[in-house]
Amino acid sequence: MTDKTLPFDHARIRELIAEFPTPFHIYDEQAIRANARGLQSAFDWCDDFTEYFAVKATPNPRILQILKEEGCGGDCSSLAELMLCQHVGISGEQIMFTANNTPASEYQAARHLGAVINLDDITHIDYLDEHVGLPEVLSFRYNPGPLRDGNAIIGSPEEAKYGFTREQLFDGYRTIRERGVKRFGLHTMVVSNELNPDFFVETAEMVFELAVEIAEQLDIRLEFVNLGGGIGIPYRPEQKPVDLQRISSGIKAAYDETIRPAGLDPIAICMEHGRMITGPCGYLVTEAIHKKHIYKSYVGVDACMANLMRPAMYGAYHHITVLGKEQAPADTVVDVVGSLCENNDKFAIDRSLPVIDSGDILVIHDAGAHGHSMGFQYNGKLRSAELLLKQDGSVEQIRRAETLDDYFATLDEPKLGKGL
Ligand SMILES: *Cc1c(COP(=O)(O)O)cnc(C)c1O
Repeated sequence: MTDKTLPFDHARIRELIAEFPTPFHIYDEQAIRANARGLQSAFDWCDDFTEYFAVKATPNPRILQILKEEGCGGDCSSLAELMLCQHVGISGEQIMFTANNTPASEYQAARHLGAVINLDDITHIDYLDEHVGLPEVLSFRYNPGPLRDGNAIIGSPEEAKYGFTREQLFDGYRTIRERGVKRFGLHTMVVSNELNPDFFVETAEMVFELAVEIAEQLDIRLEFVNLGGGIGIPYRPEQKPVDLQRISSGIKAAYDETIRPAGLDPIAICMEHGRMITGPCGYLVTEAIHKKHIYKSYVGVDACMANLMRPAMYGAYHHITVLGKEQAPADTVVDVVGSLCENNDKFAIDRSLPVIDSGDILVIHDAGAHGHSMGFQYNGKLRSAELLLKQDGSVEQIRRAETLDDYFATLDEPKLGKGL
């Protein structure tokens, strides 16, 4: 069970709404710091462990600054994400550039910043060489394809667009060594939003065994392995957070069994989690504005799928608290919906909640990662503000809400909207 408690109460949110109209996202700084520390301290046994926070989860410079202070690097996959890291002083090899289908301009920027480049495909060796030149350090993303018997890792990597095949990996390392690359890394990421710790341990076992084979066959000693992101969070109250100690001790056992006897110690271990760091620490705050009864009952809120698209896109569950009614019986069943002209614009379907009145404030939990950042402007919806609940209890606006001027800004129609 996970308690779906809030770091603020009803009165505090009403105060905030007076200043910052709904909808908005609010992030809990203290909880973000605690999550970053928790992950790093679980890997205390590893001399060289780095969490490269996946910038796409929460691409706000204030959040990145907090994570930098906690010792995290940044995992980027676009020019804008690289610029965000640079802006907050996450620099050089504190940046991992794991992009795919990457344009030359982004490789140039990554190289310019001294980021560690993690190639997604064997043809990108030539592409990078031709457009930018090969750096001293280079990493490859491995796609294990159909996983061997007994490997319980879920998903079907062979259906995924990412990475090198096993054979390409060996060819690739040979090629880049011949072309002067001196330091080598290996990356893989085969799970997402996964709550079973064993899958992360199995991924590490697979990668460590591969590191040994690479050493034996190519006489290349990897400097680091990057085990990717993907640790899940308990979106549902009946779920439990992932046991990080279990992941860590399983990975340590694999390291002791595979890396040490092969004489490959030390190998740095990197991860690039986003969701587990910021996901549970962000909330989408929205007001109920309409109630509707037809064949089903609906509560319409002033946020929509443009503010948080996970429920609509993946059918994802996000817990909802009705402020001031925490103790009231959840005895009505409703769909909680946004205003897009898309019938999948629903935050909850057939959810048992307390009776909701127009004007009630709903808090949608676990919106801190892949929430605001997935926003879009379909139907002329504007992206909402982001607020930071600081450790001293004060609140800072870390991104203002978009205005119609922002929405129209890319059109060459200076008068548009001015007469409204
Ligand atoms: C999205 C992504 C991550 C972060 O995933 P989380 O589920 O937020 O941990 C890490 N690495 C890569 C390459 C990704 O694409």
